[in-house]
Amino acid sequence: MSTGVVWFRSDLRLADNPAWAAATAAHDRVLALFVLDPRPLSASGPLRTDLLLAHLASLDEALVRQGGRLLVRHGDPRTVVPEVVASSGAEAVHLNHDVTPYAIRRDTAVGAAVAVVVHHGRTIHPVGAITTAGGAPYRVFTPFHRAWEATSWEPWPQGGAATVAGEVGDGVPPAAPPVMAPGEAGAAHRLERLLEHVDRYDEERDRPDLDHTSRLSADLHFGAVSPRLVASVIGDRTPGRRAFIRQLAWREFYAQVLATHPETLVRALRSEYDAVAWRDDPGGLEAWQAGRTGYPFVDAGMRQLLATGWMHNRVRMVAASFLVKDLLIDWRHGERWFRRHLVDADVGQNVGNWQWVAGTGADAAPYFRVFNPVTQSRRFDPDGDYLRRWVPELRGLDGDAIHAPWEAAPLDLAAGGVVLDDTYPSPMVDHAMARERAIAAYRRGRTIRAR
Ligand SMILES: Cc1cc2nc3c(=O)[nH]c(=O)nc-3n(C[C@H](O)[C@H](O)[C@H](O)COP(=O)(O)OP(=O)(O)OC[C@H]3O[C@@H](n4cnc5c(N)ncnc54)[C@H](O)[C@@H]3O)c2cc1C
Repeated sequence: MSTGVVWFRSDLRLADNPAWAAATAAHDRVLALFVLDPRPLSASGPLRTDLLLAHLASLDEALVRQGGRLLVRHGDPRTVVPEVVASSGAEAVHLNHDVTPYAIRRDTAVGAAVAVVVHHGRTIHPVGAITTAGGAPYRVFTPFHRAWEATSWEPWPQGGAATVAGEVGDGVPPAAPPVMAPGEAGAAHRLERLLEHVDRYDEERDRPDLDHTSRLSADLHFGAVSPRLVASVIGDRTPGRRAFIRQLAWREFYAQVLATHPETLVRALRSEYDAVAWRDDPGGLEAWQAGRTGYPFVDAGMRQLLATGWMHNRVRMVAASFLVKDLLIDWRHGERWFRRHLVDADVGQNVGNWQWVAGTGADAAPYFRVFNPVTQSRRFDPDGDYLRRWVPELRGLDGDAIHAPWEAAPLDLAAGGVVLDDTYPSPMVDHAMARERAIAAYRRGRTIRAR
């Protein structure tokens, strides 16, 4: 009787899981393993850790329905995986490819100790498969997207009838209630809800007050649903649906950028911007982290992040831009903060997007493009509903005043119960001045590098 191990990592599902399908087809008996690795866990905030544990409990339930269990072990996978292989007599470990530099080092070490079969389940097209005609990776999104769209998918994997092993390991520690319903069922519910709005996604996706985006980012990160399943349910028959699928292509573009340029985790992809003289401003960083900058749109986003582990994409862009451009604080500080607190934190997506905002990455916004946090607020939260939800001390302000309380007439502030620098801070920096300062600092950085 042949035994195979499926080492689950960020593919916590049974449906459309190539590693699971291949192992259940190739072996008589399959052991489902998850390793709670202290290293990535130490970088995760409590909301993401609780969500991970809830996903593991859901996966365990799904395996119980098939007569098995999820074997959860604590420790360094480089030691644990070979131990499990030795004790179970497994012939091979099946896993889905991961592209973070840490995952690649870890998987290479495991692959040197035991037989590993690598599958591709995190992306629609295997990372590295979409290249230019000359075989080079794309650095610009639009041609990548065109090639990505024109490439047909691999067929859906068919599983086999292996017995699922019922081994119990260290167990999943009890988690606090997660911020969203976990598991394949939770993801399926969000996908169903998306169908109500997806035909207007192109018009509504930038509106944090409407909250009509999919909220599937954490599901895609943990792998509770496959991107192929999402894309096949949504299809491309309306502009809204096509706009949605394009975002999945961004996800795959950034996975590819990280795989090709692992150094971007810590360095600007455009090295000329590593010479920008960032400000050392711990107080400014703290005010940004806590949502006390005095710019309501930025503060609303940063508070939403701390309370829920998620922030709307438009607000992520504006909040990130505020840190990098208005405060001129190194994007790496912001990237680390988001990585700790986002429940969907994903190294490739986070670094790629931070470098996009900072103007330092692949196909990034030009460095002189600086989001105006007040204009963005007026445009994308026109009635101030999003601000009222997350900055309750400004709820009493009417109309336009909520977007820029310092511009409101004293009587309007008093009527809204707002006392600047008492109930809510004044802006910590003047946006027009900060914009000029940032552009000058970027220009100087480029000149230094060019010398
Ligand atoms: C500074 C910054 C940091 C970010 N960090 C992360 C991160 O760590 N993890 C993460 O998954 N996303 C990140 N994003 C991208 C984006 O904000 C989230 O994917 C999105 O807000 C998740 O909400 P949703 O699932 O409702 O998105 P939807 O609008 O419903 O989009 C559908 C899916 O497309 C993908 N997607 C959407 N926008 C982007 C994008 N800009 N880049 C790459 N993929 C995208 C996501 O997988 C998302 O679930 C970041 C964006 C910024 C500006």
